[in-house]
Amino acid sequence: MTDIVPLENFVNGAWVRSTGPDHLDVPDPSDGSVIARVPRSGAADVDLAVRAARAAFRRWKEVPVAERARRVLALRNLLEAHADELARTVVRENGKTLDEARGSVRRGIEATEFAASAPTTLQGSFLEDVSPGVDSTLLRQPVGVVAGITPFNFPVMIPLWMAPLAVVCGNAFLLKPSERVPLSARLLATWFEEAGFPPGVFNLLHGDAAAVDAILAHPGIDAVSFVGSAPTARHIYTTAAAHGKRVQALAGAKNHLIVMPDADLDRSVPAILSSAFGQAGERCLAASVIVAVEPGGDRLVERLATEVSRLPTGPAGRPDTVVGPVIRPDHRERVLRWIRDGETAGAKVVARGPEPPAGPGFYVPPVLFDHVRPEMPIAQEEVFGPVLSVIRVGSLDEGLDVANRSRFGNAAAIFTRDGRAAREFVHRIEAGMVGVNIGVPAPAAYFPFVGWKGSFYGDLHATGRDAIEFYTRKKVVTTRWF
Ligand code: NAD
Repeated sequence: MTDIVPLENFVNGAWVRSTGPDHLDVPDPSDGSVIARVPRSGAADVDLAVRAARAAFRRWKEVPVAERARRVLALRNLLEAHADELARTVVRENGKTLDEARGSVRRGIEATEFAASAPTTLQGSFLEDVSPGVDSTLLRQPVGVVAGITPFNFPVMIPLWMAPLAVVCGNAFLLKPSERVPLSARLLATWFEEAGFPPGVFNLLHGDAAAVDAILAHPGIDAVSFVGSAPTARHIYTTAAAHGKRVQALAGAKNHLIVMPDADLDRSVPAILSSAFGQAGERCLAASVIVAVEPGGDRLVERLATEVSRLPTGPAGRPDTVVGPVIRPDHRERVLRWIRDGETAGAKVVARGPEPPAGPGFYVPPVLFDHVRPEMPIAQEEVFGPVLSVIRVGSLDEGLDVANRSRFGNAAAIFTRDGRAAREFVHRIEAGMVGVNIGVPAPAAYFPFVGWKGSFYGDLHATGRDAIEFYTRKKVVTTRWF
């Protein structure tokens, strides 16, 4: 394994070795074999990248927006041409199935396409005669150097939520991908280069918390886009803000799906299963709690249990696998502990998936809990694994109360045939991304990705017009001609 060469950072248009103290091994979650070694970049590496980005920014912001958008389109075409290679890299380093990986790459390409519409989305506004003979113009200008810090669960899509939009707005960008999935980010850097972005406009810096802390403290970084777990998001938000930076921090989740007694189970059950167990539950939009409104609970649990007991867990690359591995052995241990704690607290396991093939992969067969109570930790904390809890309630009101007591507010959904119940749910649910008969209510790239409550720290969200606002500063010019 030691013959695997450590990955390099991409700084100022060149691949450079990190000066960091050591490296971390990157295992393939499906079989535990080491597939890469990632450097732990430190403050000196961050400084080098930020200096390059600052110098590039001064020239890049003067490039006309149509020309910047053309580079983004060239990037989009390279992503499209290499979509399969990207998806297979995601399968290998993250452990998603190929279908899931392809879907996530597609979402990243869509975000890149949205970025290419900057000549329209960057337009400002003008108002004539704010006083006699005086006009006002609102312009949008880039913020400067933006750092993107991303999680392991979407190695392509989340960097592409950020980088194309940031650079098309005229910023220089520094990506610090998750140290657990560095290979997709390396591919992205090669295509940023090939698409013709000038050196220093896009930079890639590998590393872990030490690199992040150096980014947060560096005076040459103007804004930080972060996606990751809730404790890290709080740390990023408070530290970046204390250093005077603009910051958006997308955090963890605990998503509730309310299933009404009139729900169409033939169509709802597959949507629920895919939301809860797709990507082995490692999705910020994954269903984690089913709120079953009586008298539909028994019928629903019976259907879910039958399906869960035959969901195959296995290596991500195998075509018959539905539930791939989780990311690391320590994460598997954490998920297994949640399952044991749930049982100890009195929740009842009503179905488990078949045992995965014996071997070194990081597998957790899916688990369905019934009779979970809202106060149990398993009903409140993010598990981020293939575990689904059912809470039974007597009415939609009670279900809304259970969901709204969560300290998270990323996503929620209702399954029903009743338009009035759906409308009531949409109006009263305290979550930002809401589904009606949709298990994973992910907004398209031209809408913002809007977590609420403990699922988001900041004001302007990722993607959509919010992202344009986040990556630009407004300037209002008041003009009078004598
Ligand atoms: P994580 O918080 O462990 O890591 C995210 C990034 O932060 C990585 O780049 C990592 O290197 C860095 N980091 C980790 N610990 C740090 C520390 N102490 N100080 C500074 N930097 C640190 O998150 P993860 O496990 O990679 O990702 C999964 C989490 O991300 C889940 O909680 C999931 O819900 C969340 N997530 C949220 C969204 C959303 O849109 N809200 C989307 C995807 C994932």
